[in-house]
Amino acid sequence: MFHKQTYYEALAKTIIKNLAKRRMEGYYCATAAEAKEKILSMIDSGTEVAFGGAMTLNESGILSALRERTDITLLNRDAAKTPEEAGKIYRQAFSADTYLTSTNAITMDGELINIDGRGNRVAALIFGPGQVIVVAGMNKVATDEAAGLARVRNVAAPANCIRLGKTTPCTVTGRCGDCFGDASICSQIVVTRRSSELNRIKVILVGEELGY
Ligand code: SF4
Repeated sequence: MFHKQTYYEALAKTIIKNLAKRRMEGYYCATAAEAKEKILSMIDSGTEVAFGGAMTLNESGILSALRERTDITLLNRDAAKTPEEAGKIYRQAFSADTYLTSTNAITMDGELINIDGRGNRVAALIFGPGQVIVVAGMNKVATDEAAGLARVRNVAAPANCIRLGKTTPCTVTGRCGDCFGDASICSQIVVTRRSSELNRIKVILVGEELGY
């Protein structure tokens, strides 16, 4: 365990350096508990917060900590009573002060790789919210862009399809079947190679396995 932590720290240092080259800010937290405290300190009182994707944010306890904060407005699409209300919250997220998400893969060279069905999550990552905080367990690290793309198609998406009860080829075979039907969650595959606005995207690497 000790050696693994040391390895994670060394690798995170490399990724953080490469994120800086891409105008993104990186941090390393050894545990999810540490990451939670770091993220809470990055969100100012009186601000509006939105989020997309749930596994990493739930597993790390970040979402429940945000729900407990009475000094912020948390835009929660899961609380919507109608599809219209949910749609409104999706759009409101673009003007939030902070957007929280994970990434389906992050390369050692600092690229973020994400797959999205509706597209709202990658859209907010690209443009809109004042700051984007990306939380990623070290299990999301891929050697390079090709490995990252393979990871999102053959690990992240199939696991998410299984979680969502989708009838896609990947839920049967465990690997991407390049489907196009109604059930597919892969409408957008986005590689973020750089942040236009300096340090708008902040990446918190966590020395634990979180999400898929
Ligand atoms: S394209 Fe289809 S088969 Fe491939 S990972 Fe996405 S949902 Fe699964």
